[in-house]
Amino acid sequence: MNVEVRISDNIKGKGLYATKKIEKGSIIFEEDPLVSCQFPWNALYGYNACNHCLKPLETAQENARRLTGIQSLELPYPECCTTEKSKIVSCSQCGVNYCSEKCQGLAYNQYHRLLCLQIMDRSGIHPLEMLEETWKNVHYPPESNTVMLIVRLLARILQSPNPDEAIQQTLQFCHRTVNEDSELAHKLLGPKFEGMLSHLHHSFVNAIPNHECIRQFLTMDGFQSLLALIGTNGQGVGTSPISQWFNKATNMGLPDAEQELLDKFIDKMYEDIDKHTGNFLNNEGVALYMLQSTANHCCIPNAEPTFLHNNHRLSLIALKDIEPNEEICISYLDECTLERSRHSRRKELMENYIFACNCQKCESQANDPDVTSEEEEDEKSSSSSFIEDMSN
Ligand SMILES: [Zn+2]
Ligand SMILES: [Zn+2]
Ligand SMILES: [Zn+2]
Repeated sequence: MNVEVRISDNIKGKGLYATKKIEKGSIIFEEDPLVSCQFPWNALYGYNACNHCLKPLETAQENARRLTGIQSLELPYPECCTTEKSKIVSCSQCGVNYCSEKCQGLAYNQYHRLLCLQIMDRSGIHPLEMLEETWKNVHYPPESNTVMLIVRLLARILQSPNPDEAIQQTLQFCHRTVNEDSELAHKLLGPKFEGMLSHLHHSFVNAIPNHECIRQFLTMDGFQSLLALIGTNGQGVGTSPISQWFNKATNMGLPDAEQELLDKFIDKMYEDIDKHTGNFLNNEGVALYMLQSTANHCCIPNAEPTFLHNNHRLSLIALKDIEPNEEICISYLDECTLERSRHSRRKELMENYIFACNCQKCESQANDPDVTSEEEEDEKSSSSSFIEDMSN
């Protein structure tokens, strides 16, 4: 192992530390999540991914056609597509698709046995579908989370041969007060929808088997602690057949003339995608990782999560050379927010994670005036035009 989790000597509590020298660009570790889940709007709009691991189920060409809206589009070098259509299997009872028998087996044994909609009454709507609908109505794209991740987390406990151990694993993610959890749960829903929290809780309780061993999570406080858990620990996952094809095709070492043609084709394709689909290129979802979630935030991170396998398996990559005993930190903020003023970054971290960042960068900018970055103001005024965009 390149890393260990230990209690740090600063106020941050637990942290992730290098046990040996790690070179810039290398993989620090890889791990599969405890649970993951595709975002519901993403799935609804045709982003076709494995129901377990989010691996794309479309070929690169199907993906390119859908995203550009050009049905006649032919991708050159089809051999660079990594989607294996012949391995795709479906649940015979509810019809969800998996990239392989392996994923189907893992899903069934971990959570799907309880969550399969096989006994759906055709005249009505299954409580799990009802819950997903409720969630969709309080959380529009750009999506950052889904209540269905919590559903899988609890089903995983109920299906575990050792539920106590599974509960302990889940509780390792939670270490906050009831008030902080409540604040984070409201923040996750946003000011427009926080009034829907009790409705969401009601749908949630209806959809989950009321079993003794998970009763602590079904109360309002318990539910809020789970929302806080996914809000603070949920790691976004993105996969894409077209970007895999792109990487393979551009790394083939083509002769210059051919390479030039390919570059032109790709530029045109991304232009067409931009016109037809905009920014939503990937299959997107969220996952919980035991080890990665122990990494603290820093505004100048030395590591970054990536998805090299084009599924939910996370690879943590070193962004710089890391010395033995150095803390490994990631950024909890997206790239754009990370470039903003100290005040904006710290405000975002306080609201979404309840901590005051005192990293090296924040310390060095301690005398900066408390200004909100202009981009943030712009964003506020132009947000949530998604529904109109997508229906055009
Ligand atoms: Zn899969
Ligand atoms: Zn099923
Ligand atoms: Zn900072």
